[in-house]
Amino acid sequence: DAYPPSADEEGDPVTLAEARSTTFAHRRKVFLVSTPTIRGLSRIEQEFEASDQRRYFVPCPHCGAMQWLEFERLRWEKGRPETASYACNACDTLITEHHKTAMLEAGEWRATAVSTDPHHVGYHLSALYSPIGWKSWEQIAREWLAARGNDEMLRAARNTLLGETWVERGEAPEWQRLADRREVFAAQIPEGGLFLTAGADIQKDRFEVDIWAWGRGLQSWLVDHIVIPGGPDSPAAWAELTKILGRTWQHANGAVMPVAKLAIDTGYEAAAVYAWARAQGFEQVVPVKGLEGFNRATPVSGPTFVDATVGGKRLRRGARLWSVATATFKIETYRFLRLERPEEDQPNPPGMIHLPDWADSEWLKQLVAEQLVTVRNKRGYARQEWQKLRERNEALDTRVYARAAAWIMGSDRWDERMWRQLEDQAGVVTAVPDVGGGGANAAGEQAPTPDPSARQAGAPPTTPRRKRQTYTPRFMR
Ligand SMILES: [Zn+2]
Repeated sequence: DAYPPSADEEGDPVTLAEARSTTFAHRRKVFLVSTPTIRGLSRIEQEFEASDQRRYFVPCPHCGAMQWLEFERLRWEKGRPETASYACNACDTLITEHHKTAMLEAGEWRATAVSTDPHHVGYHLSALYSPIGWKSWEQIAREWLAARGNDEMLRAARNTLLGETWVERGEAPEWQRLADRREVFAAQIPEGGLFLTAGADIQKDRFEVDIWAWGRGLQSWLVDHIVIPGGPDSPAAWAELTKILGRTWQHANGAVMPVAKLAIDTGYEAAAVYAWARAQGFEQVVPVKGLEGFNRATPVSGPTFVDATVGGKRLRRGARLWSVATATFKIETYRFLRLERPEEDQPNPPGMIHLPDWADSEWLKQLVAEQLVTVRNKRGYARQEWQKLRERNEALDTRVYARAAAWIMGSDRWDERMWRQLEDQAGVVTAVPDVGGGGANAAGEQAPTPDPSARQAGAPPTTPRRKRQTYTPRFMR
């Protein structure tokens, strides 16, 4: 399941591997093993469902009833995972874990379905069967409790502990619900915002640029929405875009912040984008290209080097291009948008998205303009793809690019020290949430220790100010 889906049908790695075995005709044996991932995408789940679906049946030590172990029958006292035991599905008596060795010895594989191909057998086993001394029922209960409320951790727990697929929720949140929870910001950049990134979308007749502020746990705030009339043919439009790089926005604490990184889409008129990006230098501007499909572990890859023409001169490998698995950041964005507001006095959950009161209905509709659907090709292999529900979706695209810019800066890997440093720069004093830094990354992985040199390079500039500037909000068209 971890193999990325291939762009063309013939390149599917499972198909290719199976094709290698045809030479051996009836003597061949094909063995597929995997931890399942996402419902609808999981190859191993599809294979298992086509098999005779064998489960390992073990006897209840109390009544002898044969049964396979399901997580739903694991019981523990509230808040006490150390009391985890298993409720027999026949007599409902609690089975403590020390019986497990004898149960496993007396168990047997039993088919629970009829396979379409009689030679196709499938076996399923969860961590509940781990022999004594390996993963215990207590640990399973503990890990499950720890994952509560965090979709990424629950997904990992479902996949790795239970061997079950995760059902991705790809439906768009209601724009009206987002409108209801817009907030009045105390300044252009509210207290928690620690650096700014921008996403720029290039259209035939205009550029759309959204500025996002990012804070601990990848909370984010929409700071500005700028529409520049004129398309890539217009030097005036490019000049306006250049001005954004020199602008600053007012932080609630008096500091002003420029855009630390602007990610610009190269999907339309790439040559013009490369030329402009090259002229701005590599530090503040990153050209990006959207890729099909998911890549949860590495949603952004690059840079690769592409040719650019600047001032009529062709520069070989003159521009840098980053590839963004947009699907991964879209699902993250919708997951973040569905987060419930915390109770009063409670910290915001990681990933919380804050929308200002000036965000209008058109912008909100653009943000939720897509949904994730599962499509199957002729061979029955499934993949998930984002489909537009309406024509205009620039707010979602620019959000994804701004998010990619934050990723490129290293925000998913920053440690506590880095977040403290950003807070010092912005003059922000915030309560440290117990979730720590970048705890809500798209990959749902443990944050590795950042490379100190990368950290310095990624440190966004902020300019402290003595005098507070008048706050002039920009309104959307
Ligand atoms: Zn029983």
